[in-house]
Amino acid sequence: AMVATRASDERGTAQQVDVALVGAGFAGLYLLHRLRKAGFSTVGLEEAGDVGGTWYWNRYPGARCDIQTIDYSYTFDPELEAAWTWSEKYATQPEILRYLGFVADRYDLRRDIRFKTKVTEARWDEASERWLITTDNGAPVSCRHYIMATGCLSAPKPPEIDGVKDFKGDVYFTGRWPHDGVDLAGKRVAVIGTGSSAIQSIPLIAEQAAHLTVFQRTPNFALPAHNGPAPSDRMSLLQGDRAAYREQARQSMAGVPYPQQTVVSWQLSDAERRERFERAWAAGDLVHILTQLWADQAVDVDGNKVVQDLIREKIRAAVRDPETAAALTPHDHPFGAKRPCLDTNYYATYNRPNVTLVNLRQEPIKAITASGISTNGRSFEVDVIVFATGFDAMTGAIRAVHPITGRGGRSLSDVWAQGPQTYLGLTVEGFPNFFVITGPGSPSVLSNMAVSIEQHADWVVDRLAALREAGFTTIEPTETAQAGWGRHMADCSMLTLHRLANTWYTGANVPGKVQGLMPYTGGVGPYRSICDEVVSRGMLGFRLT
Ligand code: FAD
Repeated sequence: AMVATRASDERGTAQQVDVALVGAGFAGLYLLHRLRKAGFSTVGLEEAGDVGGTWYWNRYPGARCDIQTIDYSYTFDPELEAAWTWSEKYATQPEILRYLGFVADRYDLRRDIRFKTKVTEARWDEASERWLITTDNGAPVSCRHYIMATGCLSAPKPPEIDGVKDFKGDVYFTGRWPHDGVDLAGKRVAVIGTGSSAIQSIPLIAEQAAHLTVFQRTPNFALPAHNGPAPSDRMSLLQGDRAAYREQARQSMAGVPYPQQTVVSWQLSDAERRERFERAWAAGDLVHILTQLWADQAVDVDGNKVVQDLIREKIRAAVRDPETAAALTPHDHPFGAKRPCLDTNYYATYNRPNVTLVNLRQEPIKAITASGISTNGRSFEVDVIVFATGFDAMTGAIRAVHPITGRGGRSLSDVWAQGPQTYLGLTVEGFPNFFVITGPGSPSVLSNMAVSIEQHADWVVDRLAALREAGFTTIEPTETAQAGWGRHMADCSMLTLHRLANTWYTGANVPGKVQGLMPYTGGVGPYRSICDEVVSRGMLGFRLT
């Protein structure tokens, strides 16, 4: 009785909408636009002070996209495309943030978003078939459908090192960089981590700092971005036939319009392989080098090793000190199995006299002290520590809303205790009318996310409209369908090399996190076909009531 009273009290004061949507990044903005156009009353709930998501939070020096910006854009409205021109091949964070602000203005999205409002809890009420969403700011929300567009890389990982609180200097996280910037001139700076954010920021921090010490646990493969204007060959493909170009991206493996390669590495001579590699290296494009060299690169260890060796040669050539070069060279994972990085002067930065690399594989960090960082053997006095230590990827932001309580009082964290399980990466059995965008089980971070986000949002909004049309009030995947998707995921992952790396794709970067490859490796185009087939076969795998 107590519970019932509480629930009805909350309903009395709650904001009533058809759909509550968490997140105002690339995904949340497009969803809000589509839901509104489909006639659903919607509220967006966003922890940040404005729109942008990833591009609101990640303001560290050098922050950019690493999918060419002409591809990393919305494609749903040709007039929007005509109204915006990117200034660079890889736009900076401020430019991408301006773009998302421009989109929010153009479709008047901000009026339905509650900013500085963090969702803390969500509860499915079986009697009313509605979700009740609790926030840390203002009224709860009662909604028919609950969509989490909370981001794959939005929950920064807390530091795992003792003593951070004792440190007397300044501490920054790349994923929560101050809006006014940070003056590092003349400072002794430590950067912990060598993932993508570190690789983008290290060259710029090195230019400012008196001294920069980089603490590296695992080296990554990084490729030169060769940033500049958008390449003319890509631009002319886009401008030649925009609709066809966009459609090719939607049907491609990675969400970028490149053709499928059919030649395999052993059909090519050494000279031919090197020539293809040099062309890819000069192109400065991750998707090009990941998909256009030879067909066996992503699926066969031998075909992959050829690329690895060629990149290792480049690292040796770029870094003067052989010991530093060796430490920067990855040996523990196939190229592409871990997210490769795109850089501007990253390796050459280690030739500067004011930059030191500390290889944590040889001398792990013991503690952070009042004045700096001590390893097994040395201590480094610094004024500033920058944590570029990454994210609790894919499930971090979802699980941070706790509890999410579904049918029968089951909580999502209990259901996912052995790892996330979804149907299509979009829905979860036992959680009716609940959707996650680019969730575990979808192509997500293995794709150009702009393309994946539009596909997800279109699919979800079209389904909600069809349900409403047909007079259904709930949608939920069956246990069988979800188990089947899990098996299909596992089968697909046996075909690529992703399972051979310990990475944030698998949860390996977060202590205690259940290990398993989270994104769907079957490709963006095939994934889209499956989602479409589910619909054309009468919502195969879903229970509608
Ligand atoms: P996000 O942009 O992460 O937005 C999620 C929002 O949800 C955030 O604003 C967050 O504050 C909010 N939120 C989360 N939890 C809650 C809660 N409980 N309550 C309220 N609000 C909440 N992808 C690419 O395809 N190409 C790239 O080049 C690329 N570059 C990247 C560079 C960086 C530095 C990073 C970090 C990521 C990059 N990504 C890239 C991935 C990027 O995250 C996606 O492309 C895209 O921006 C994700 O959009 P989203 O709306 O799904 O999530």
